[in-house]
Amino acid sequence: MSFSHLGLSDKVLAAVAATGYTTPTPIQEQAIPHVLARRDVLGIAQTGTGKTAAFVLPMLTMLEKGRARARMPRTLILEPTRELAAQVKENFDKYGIGQKLNVALLIGGVSFGDQDSKLTRGVDVLIATPGRLLDHTERGGLLLTGVELLVIDEADRMLDMGFIPDIERVCKLVPFTRQTLFFTATMPPEISRISQDFLHNPERIEVSKPATTATGVSQFQVRGGREVHEKREILRRLLRDAKDLQNAIIFCNRKREVAVVYKSLQKHGFSVGALHGDMDQSARTAALDQFRKGDIPLLVASDVAARGLDIPAVSHVFNFDVPHHADDYVHRIGRTGRAGRAGTAISIVSPLDSKSIAAIERLIGQTIPAAEGDYAVQSVSSDETDQPREHRSRDGSREGSRGGRKPRREREPRAAKGADKTDKRSDKSEREPRHAKGASRSAGPQPQAAAAAFVPPAPAQPSRVPSIGRPEPRRAARDAESEPADHSHLPAFLLRPVRARV
Ligand code: AMP
Repeated sequence: MSFSHLGLSDKVLAAVAATGYTTPTPIQEQAIPHVLARRDVLGIAQTGTGKTAAFVLPMLTMLEKGRARARMPRTLILEPTRELAAQVKENFDKYGIGQKLNVALLIGGVSFGDQDSKLTRGVDVLIATPGRLLDHTERGGLLLTGVELLVIDEADRMLDMGFIPDIERVCKLVPFTRQTLFFTATMPPEISRISQDFLHNPERIEVSKPATTATGVSQFQVRGGREVHEKREILRRLLRDAKDLQNAIIFCNRKREVAVVYKSLQKHGFSVGALHGDMDQSARTAALDQFRKGDIPLLVASDVAARGLDIPAVSHVFNFDVPHHADDYVHRIGRTGRAGRAGTAISIVSPLDSKSIAAIERLIGQTIPAAEGDYAVQSVSSDETDQPREHRSRDGSREGSRGGRKPRREREPRAAKGADKTDKRSDKSEREPRHAKGASRSAGPQPQAAAAAFVPPAPAQPSRVPSIGRPEPRRAARDAESEPADHSHLPAFLLRPVRARV
């Protein structure tokens, strides 16, 4: 099957040919004719399957006829994060070459004024995160009554991020007669329910079973790391030992952990960048660009920031934290082994993660084998980043979070973070799923800091000191997206150490 059999226009076929793609991927082959026939489509496909082009190419063909009117976009694409929205825009730029289409991005972190003037000029394709889109409609600067085609991308991630009510509101603002394309990587019951609400007699296209992992990915787990500094040491050893490591994404569950792991790796001589939802847009873009270009081979990331990003040829994925939701595991390891390439995914499984890893194994229908090699960690590192509950003062002395001055990031005024003050809703568009509140924006590293060459130091000699155990924290506390505790407001008796009964 070639692209020319799918009903795409000559201009679009020429643009596809220019990219060098000769054969449509399964989702493209199956979805494009239905999209062109104006059918609703329910696409169940992981990222990396070519699903973006599966809607971008037919949209470009359909948009060749007709003109946009001021403030009334003809088509609307909803994405959960700014990066994904920007990535879809890149697809329109790539495949829409030679067409005079107005493509606008409505994402947080960009001034309303610029977005507004773009809307005034008339938009053929509007790509938006739900929060910023609704901000514009509420201000009266945007009418969705002219939308002929609506794309809801990464629907399961939208669910995770709490965007479904926003999507429902958007769906009420677009005409009932619109065409809807709905893409999701997994099909939990809630997504199944809303897909029935949003779609009319859809063509269901499933290119791989929901929640299956790419076959080219070798998966391993390393047990250990009850204490978080132990996990960092295990991670360093894994990075040093990894065979054929070209580049890697290291996933953490929390934004704060992203910042800590980033700093720790940097301190240990690795060339590394970071990506999480609270970094400002320019830092996120810069980190991603550096990683894509290969300037930095390692990227520490949170799920939201990394979801669905098109980063070709990632050789390794490391789960510094086992994700709490089994679906996220599938997405994370989907960053490697893309487009038929081989990849490796290694998860560091602490004793607290037993239930999560069991749920993952149930979901993917296989047992994840132990990685070869001895990664049991015995030594206790004393470097600054391995002591996240302490902060260095300017004179270099350590400050506990309890006493004296507050950590610097707590003293920084909120307004100084570069975001548009009116962009409250867009912050929501960028939040981490479920436990986002309270994380510090300044916890994110700046991209220029990650310039050192990637020269992994020699493997550390394991010492004989046993790891230090402590009672398992309650799940809620473990999940919380909290900063290092500032206990200054607590009565002293609550701060006395308590001996746990084992
Ligand atoms: P996506 O699933 O949309 O994130 O796409 C994953 C990657 O596949 C992107 O790098 C695309 O450029 C690439 N891609 C899309 N369509 C094709 C195709 N027909 N043949 C080869 N690669 C493709």
